[in-house]
Amino acid sequence: MIWFVNFMSVSKYRISYFYDEEIGNYYYEEYHPMKPVRVRMCHTLVLAYDIHKHLQVFRPRRASAVEMMRFHSPDYIKFLVEHTPDSPTISFQETNKFCLGNDCPIFEDLFEYCQISAGGTISAAQRLNYGYSDIAINWAGGMHHAAKEKASGFCYVADCVLGILELLKYNPRVMYIDIDIHHGDGVEEAFYDSDRVLTCSFHKYGNDFFPGTGNIMDIGTGLGKYYTVNVPLRDGMDDESYRTVFKPIIARLIEWFRPTAIMLQCGADSLVGDRLGNFNLSTYGHGECVEYVKSFGIPLLVVGGGGYTKASVARCWCYETAVLTGVDIPNEMPQTDYIDFYENHKLHLVADANKKNMNSTEFLWNIQTTVIENIRHLPAAPSVQMQELPPRDLITAAMRPVNDEDRHSNEEEE
Ligand code: ZN
Repeated sequence: MIWFVNFMSVSKYRISYFYDEEIGNYYYEEYHPMKPVRVRMCHTLVLAYDIHKHLQVFRPRRASAVEMMRFHSPDYIKFLVEHTPDSPTISFQETNKFCLGNDCPIFEDLFEYCQISAGGTISAAQRLNYGYSDIAINWAGGMHHAAKEKASGFCYVADCVLGILELLKYNPRVMYIDIDIHHGDGVEEAFYDSDRVLTCSFHKYGNDFFPGTGNIMDIGTGLGKYYTVNVPLRDGMDDESYRTVFKPIIARLIEWFRPTAIMLQCGADSLVGDRLGNFNLSTYGHGECVEYVKSFGIPLLVVGGGGYTKASVARCWCYETAVLTGVDIPNEMPQTDYIDFYENHKLHLVADANKKNMNSTEFLWNIQTTVIENIRHLPAAPSVQMQELPPRDLITAAMRPVNDEDRHSNEEEE
């Protein structure tokens, strides 16, 4: 059990990491900004930096259509299953109804791509539920715009929502934190009237920036009132500004809500130089959010999300895998097949010193106090009378780790 000794010597956390090598083969369209190959580039770096030696690496099982229907409407999922770009029966009315085409094209093997993304997040949630892992990572997940009956913002199947539903089987309270530059509208909407899921999204807001939602006064409804938190920001957010709002708000929310599990969506389009985003975060600043959330020691499910400069995404998520694992890795990048994508061969991105930060100290202070004032209405975490737990799902073969040593340790746990 050499692997086990290595793992324990570096990190006190048990970390599951879900990766399917097929992910890099899916292709939206030539000029589409979403490039699934970024996840393969990240994984290649994780291997080259030897971070995988401190992880339990799994190939996720693929989520079934029925599993997806725990949140999505059957006719939407049926459409995704049955249609390819060449389908002769495809109708304009249907693609319109499900918001497919344009931003969300029907590409080759689209459903399979969704199965991998959703399968990873659901499996990651199960690892946490069973107590097998303290942290579980699925960089192919984080599709936070997908809605119950339609695709949106490059997202088709709502893996975040499905993962949270899975966590709710065993957890009375789940917190969702979103640091993608876009508002996490799909996840917010799914749990807008629930007091068992607190969603908190930090995003650019205003000037018709997609998706246009995420106003600071959108705080939830019914039982879910005050359990939705929105932190709307302006262009040019740098590490210092982000830290100023992120840490006090997250600390206050965790103190008050006392989540028993957290999902962290790490959209990398909030980094400096993103093709679609306009923030100015370095990889250190982005990773500091991950480090901070990890520091609370609450079971943590980490997913990817946006990120449209693929070399930056790979750098960021590789670094954050190291942060979660607790290993230090050098800035000088190791040799990989993708080395030519990283012009300077350095892991870290630094902020653009010439970029104007449109978020003044006063603006950020007002945001922070308004958010904290909103949640002051509720004195303590809701208590949940847990229903009888569902039968302990059998761990399928695909949930088992890739290497034999891991498989052995899992059988013992079962
Ligand atoms: Zn985004």
